[in-house]
Amino acid sequence: MTQDDPSPKRRKRKPADGRPAAGRKAGGKAKAPIKVDPALPPEIILEGLRVSAGIAIGEAHLVEIGVVNVPDYEVPANAVTAEQERFAAALAKSERQLRKLKRKSTELHGAAAEELEFLLEAHLQMLSGSRVVRGVERRIQERQNAEAAVQAEINAVAHEFEQLNDPYLSARAKDVREVGDRLLRNLTKTPFEAFKHLPDGAIVIAEELTPADTALFDPKRIQGFATELGGAESHTAIMARSLALPAVLGLAGLTKSLKTGDTVIVDGTAGRLYINPTPARLDELHRRQLEIEKGDRQLARLKKVPAITRDGQRIGMLVNLEMPRELDMALKSGAEGVGLLRSEFLFMNRVDLPSEDEQAEAYRAIVEGMAGRPVTIRTLDVGGDKLAPSLRERLGDTANPALGLRAIRLGLQERGLLETQIAAILRASAFGEVRILLPMISSLSEVRQVRDVVTLVAKRLKRRGVKLPDPLPPIGIMIEVPGAALAADALTQVADFFAIGSNDLTQYTLAIDRGEEQVAHLYNPLHPAVLRLIQFATEAALRARIPVSVCGEIAGDPKYVPLLLGLGIQDLSMAPVNLPRVKQRIRNIDYLAATRCARLIMDQWDAGRIAMMLDDFNALAI
Ligand code: PEP
Ligand code: MG
Repeated sequence: MTQDDPSPKRRKRKPADGRPAAGRKAGGKAKAPIKVDPALPPEIILEGLRVSAGIAIGEAHLVEIGVVNVPDYEVPANAVTAEQERFAAALAKSERQLRKLKRKSTELHGAAAEELEFLLEAHLQMLSGSRVVRGVERRIQERQNAEAAVQAEINAVAHEFEQLNDPYLSARAKDVREVGDRLLRNLTKTPFEAFKHLPDGAIVIAEELTPADTALFDPKRIQGFATELGGAESHTAIMARSLALPAVLGLAGLTKSLKTGDTVIVDGTAGRLYINPTPARLDELHRRQLEIEKGDRQLARLKKVPAITRDGQRIGMLVNLEMPRELDMALKSGAEGVGLLRSEFLFMNRVDLPSEDEQAEAYRAIVEGMAGRPVTIRTLDVGGDKLAPSLRERLGDTANPALGLRAIRLGLQERGLLETQIAAILRASAFGEVRILLPMISSLSEVRQVRDVVTLVAKRLKRRGVKLPDPLPPIGIMIEVPGAALAADALTQVADFFAIGSNDLTQYTLAIDRGEEQVAHLYNPLHPAVLRLIQFATEAALRARIPVSVCGEIAGDPKYVPLLLGLGIQDLSMAPVNLPRVKQRIRNIDYLAATRCARLIMDQWDAGRIAMMLDDFNALAI
């Protein structure tokens, strides 16, 4: 919170006079001026979660919940019950979303909060046993598919409201359509298609974005984004950092506070969104934007120097990638390899599964692009907040998707899926150093089963005449389930390396949904329980002399560097954008002092005290 910001969440100013000196645009670079109307509307400041640093200034583009193509077909008589269930699930999801938004709106103050709550309550009422719901159920009973039934019913009800000669009631028609759009989106689960049509330099504003939605962003065209819902460690947030897009999530009242075309500033560093900023604000933030660019240019000079502590400890600097198009950023950052390739992004935003050839090509492009540096390919980790439409049926709608059929569990159940992916990875391994990484491992038997699959697939490929390296790529595991961390000693017998996934390890240890903004304040990788698990797994790996890295988000935050190094971690894997800053931190610290600091921290049981000790160490070592 800045000193000039009197309200904790939201502040309005009187219309400003005068014009800003200049406008700015795209990718943090000052570009074409943005025209600001002299009769400026009031500035609004919203506070949210800072998930991806940097400043973006540009035009807001509100991506509304909406579905372009509504399928219309007759449901077979024996599928009517299943169709009713599909509608019921979309209805329940819509209700959950609205309740969440309503809770979020209580963070606002005064009339804005009341207005919003009233509106959301009206939407909620439309979903509980109302005429709309009954009408849709009746249409499905008459064998219309759920999407077409929703659209027809919504049109009928909205039309009736529009016909009434009453301004209040005809305004309700808009609410009815909004509720209908929400139901349709939840039924079809389609990602936003609209990104393609956004103008260059747009700032995307949405109620919520999935990781798949975010994967559609072209960072050359989209400058940044802000959403009403979403947690700081969600995969949407991770994608923002990967694409180096300034982003703020969890902004209460966001979509009702602006319209497309409004000038906005996303301050991803402070976790703040300015709507209709004053000329003075535009100047101030533009100045900061230029400072950030200058700092980045200076840091880029570190690209060629090694990450080595003052007393000579060398640390491996690896990157996390989601999509082949991030390769360029990885190379520019000076990465020494890929510590985590989240292969699931290849499976998103498409209705079919990628074939063995297609996967092999994608992996090969990365392996060749990294030119001899190691590439760690993690097998498919869908489930939780990462969804692949082609696997929707398999994953189902479960109450606790993060604890359900996810990651390696799916691969071991759907052997064909795993075998195809392993074949593609093995084929790519003929073009450079590849390592296979298994997500969500919790037992030795899972690793052994995958090893059998690798042996079998390698044999098949050899029979097909495919050239494979000898020995085959090493097989490592993610340490991200608390049980795996506690069983780390035993797991070293079957794993060739460990990659500590602190994001899920924190989520599962503390029972905090990493994507849920309501509990985001409780999500803390510095909780002593999480640190002890990291320490335990690291020591097990060091004893067994197998490599151990950290590839969760803490590896990309310079603040955690002394602690991770002090615990014995010698490889860090992070979003390319974070690499220079982390390297700078490493080059400024003393390894021995970091080890002493980590030892003292590991004696503590209070997360607040641990954070203070780490801050003190960082302040001294700058
Ligand atoms: C983790 O859990 O820390 C991790 C790196 O994997 P993901 O963020 O993809 O779940
Ligand atoms: Mg994980």
